[in-house]
Amino acid sequence: MPIYEYACSGCGHEFEALVRSSTVPECPSCHSKELKKLLSVFATTGTSTDAAPMMPSPCGSCPNVGGPGACSFN
Ligand SMILES: [Zn+2]
Repeated sequence: MPIYEYACSGCGHEFEALVRSSTVPECPSCHSKELKKLLSVFATTGTSTDAAPMMPSPCGSCPNVGGPGACSFN
């Protein structure tokens, strides 16, 4: 769950907000939605799992779910 830190443009209040895709955060102090996003708390904790290795592996040892040779790399 992404938690972002915001600074309110209206009153200068800084706060953290848990942001869902359908949620627009607002200032808990003055309820303004004119916010400036600061650094994400979880910016570099490595939650991404799609960092797949880009090196081609030879058929016979590739992890393709179709089995050895199914990657049709050659
Ligand atoms: Zn505010």
